[in-house]
Amino acid sequence: MTALPLHTRHPRRFEQNRFVYPVLSRRSEGISIGVNLNPDKVCNFDCIYCQVDRTRQSETQFVETQQLLEELGSVLDLCASGSIFQHEKFQDTPVSFRRLNDIAFSGDGEPTTFKNFDEIVADCAALKRERGLDDVKLVLITNASMFHREHVKRGLSILDENNGEIWAKLEAGTQEYFQLVDRTPIPFRQILDNITAAAKVRPLVIQALFMRVNSEPPSATELSAFCDRLNQITEAGGKLTLIQVYTVARRPAESYVAPLSDDEVDAIVDLVKSRTGLGAKAYYGATS
Ligand code: SF4
Repeated sequence: MTALPLHTRHPRRFEQNRFVYPVLSRRSEGISIGVNLNPDKVCNFDCIYCQVDRTRQSETQFVETQQLLEELGSVLDLCASGSIFQHEKFQDTPVSFRRLNDIAFSGDGEPTTFKNFDEIVADCAALKRERGLDDVKLVLITNASMFHREHVKRGLSILDENNGEIWAKLEAGTQEYFQLVDRTPIPFRQILDNITAAAKVRPLVIQALFMRVNSEPPSATELSAFCDRLNQITEAGGKLTLIQVYTVARRPAESYVAPLSDDEVDAIVDLVKSRTGLGAKAYYGATS
């Protein structure tokens, strides 16, 4: 099929989308297609640094599966044909970034709380397979709170079979700091057990966001405890491929939250590497 100019084929097509949104990701050096399974913006965590704007209610409250799959199919086609780079939003994309890297289940809440999580993962994987996009990853960005549920376990297995990657959030070493930052009734122990169990089945990536809370960076004791938790996961047989160390990049939920400096992020990366022997990478405040 000849690739027609984007505005001819789908006038502002993806900008009208409600569930699927392509973004240029410097981190993945290509396009990442976000799939939002939480349009109602409800989450089972209430992180003090959350960047989802909950001051305004979303017009879309429920996932409409058929609509979501149509949007994903359409964006996959735009990426596969290269037409997406004719759109004003992507026309300045450097040549080396003109590639589709992944489909990411992320969005405005915790994706695994979606009740048909396993089915939607299977359907999205099928759309990717039908187009022969086997190199494109399926990434799950998650707080790991629901890994013990059967339908979530099934969803994780489907990810494994379709070039999946799981990025699980862990950014505390103690129950107290976990509660301060993530503000959820779910116990820290449950999160640790879930990450350990999932990491025994396939390697996981850990996402750790550290910040200043009331001007205070995480204490040396807390960071040491964080490294202890990572070591406990690997000593129990869990595989962790990378620890991504972040800080706040956009406006956080609470005004008393502020980013760490680049040097502070680097120091945490060095600490994680030396205390755990795991790979760790820094992502600074301005990284998208
Ligand atoms: S888990 Fe993610 S979406 Fe939920 S409150 Fe925390 S940062 Fe926000």
